[in-house]
Amino acid sequence: MARIAFIGLGNMGGGMAANLAKKGHDVRAFDLSAEALERAKAAGCLPVDSATAACDGAEAVITMLPAGKHVEGVYGDAILASAPASAILIDCSTIDVATAKRVAEGAMARGFAAVDAPVSGGIAAAAAGTLTFMAGGSAEAFERAQPFLADMGKAVIHAGANGAGQAAKVCNNMLLGATMIATCEAFLLARKLGLDPQKFFDIASVSSGQSWSMTSYAPLPGVGPETPADHDYQGGFATALMLKDLKLAAEAAADVGADTPMGARAADLYQKFADAGQGGTDFSGIIRMLDS
Ligand code: NAD
Repeated sequence: MARIAFIGLGNMGGGMAANLAKKGHDVRAFDLSAEALERAKAAGCLPVDSATAACDGAEAVITMLPAGKHVEGVYGDAILASAPASAILIDCSTIDVATAKRVAEGAMARGFAAVDAPVSGGIAAAAAGTLTFMAGGSAEAFERAQPFLADMGKAVIHAGANGAGQAAKVCNNMLLGATMIATCEAFLLARKLGLDPQKFFDIASVSSGQSWSMTSYAPLPGVGPETPADHDYQGGFATALMLKDLKLAAEAAADVGADTPMGARAADLYQKFADAGQGGTDFSGIIRMLDS
């Protein structure tokens, strides 16, 4: 079992740190929020009063922070100065590809092994230890990060070099955002054409229109498996987070000169939904806006 620094104990990091403690690791946990620290303590972690203290003697340093500026800040202010050079640095936050590469390069220049390892799966998967990790870094760094990630998830995939984890994440979520909107449109059109939505689900789920948005996350209540639609679009994956990921995808596309018209349209529509006060609503709730 290892000594692990865990920085960022929010909706996702709280559950992830708890799972590491459950596996028997010595988890030194830090967050700016006193409440988050209390929850981590109750979950078997040792709360500490700074990121620097968390890194002291750590074999692995895991961050789960809101955005690139937070990750860059914590790496610059604390991790690179206080973690042992033998520690493996693992950033699980969803951040822009350019910052992920810059952070990893800075860490490697100081002799650290570093990976970006963003996740697929929401708060429930973080708590249950069933996240999917997509990791970017050298083969050696990935091999060192893999056992820690496996203790928090059901799948750990090496995506490629540093930044490749974030690249996979934004491409996946751009696909998800666009297919969800297309799925909503198809359900609404099917209904207007007189089709029973459940019948349409039964057909599309086993036909060429099938996707995760259709089969596992059908956006109409009472159709398909239980989804946030059955709970008034509460819980699940917030529109604000989908919008964040679509913006990261747009930034990444602009950086490499890629044309992503469907991703851009999805971002416009989610922006409109968020502007209507629905940023906290599950992203499949956009069906209500499309229906109005
Ligand atoms: P959150 O806002 O609930 O948690 C972030 C935590 O980081 C907060 O507790 C905050 O106090 C802490 N923090 C911020 N700056 C800090 C600092 N300098 N030092 C220490 N702690 C600091 O966010 P979340 O939902 O847990 O998401 C975390 C990351 O995971 C984000 O990058 C998000 O995009 C990604 N993600 C979230 C979900 C989801 O469903 N919530 C799913 C996949 C990926």
